[in-house]
Amino acid sequence: MEEKMLVFLKPDGYVRKYVGARALKEIMKLEPSVDYFGEFRPDKMFMSDKHYANLKGKPIFEWLIRYVTSTPIIAMIIGGEGIAQKVRTLLGATLCENADPSSIRGRYGIGRGMNVAHASESAEVGEKEVNMWKSMLNILEGADYESKAREYIEKYENYPMIDSIRFREIGGDLNKGKIKADEAKETFKYFIAQETDLDIDSLDEFLSVSVDNFLR
Ligand code: UDP
Ligand code: MG
Repeated sequence: MEEKMLVFLKPDGYVRKYVGARALKEIMKLEPSVDYFGEFRPDKMFMSDKHYANLKGKPIFEWLIRYVTSTPIIAMIIGGEGIAQKVRTLLGATLCENADPSSIRGRYGIGRGMNVAHASESAEVGEKEVNMWKSMLNILEGADYESKAREYIEKYENYPMIDSIRFREIGGDLNKGKIKADEAKETFKYFIAQETDLDIDSLDEFLSVSVDNFLR
């Protein structure tokens, strides 16, 4: 059955340019139809009351909303036969450490719930999320969104990347109290500066969220 789904690069996938391009490249290999591709900054209310409303009350909820609104994201609406299940298989399990090391989250996630990308978990959820997001996104009739996706991948697929294991090691040390939060933040800043073309001074909240990820 032809189905539609929502995918977005979360702030780590947006900021770490190679990681995002790599995830998008693997998804594009599935040859989905591309109904939308673009940068978007969702507000906190949309993420907490609509997109992640089903997770309200969970211990991770406040951190999660801070995380997904800490920078813009890259949003995508794609379609295809069994597409949601295929993309979810590429992504791997929710928590990076539980995800298969060959999956996107297992290989490229910063750690724990900082896991590169969101993808609708089923055809039913896909339909719901696409409807929810369609009203927020400025989707232009007749635009070639597939080319936009391919241009983004081409631009960033050869960017430098710091092995995600290094983020997880710092995160582990922080969690065990071996290093302090400001030390971890400085190290993350040093790593991220090598992986992005964004102004590093605009990423303070993202860096704080990355540190807090390992303290929760
Ligand atoms: N999350 C987390 N810890 C958890 C569960 C979820 O940090 O124990 C975060 C993670 O970023 C995840 C998001 O919350 O991707 C949404 O959770 P969900 O259960 O929907 O996982 P997903 O569908 O993204 O795999
Ligand atoms: Mg989910």
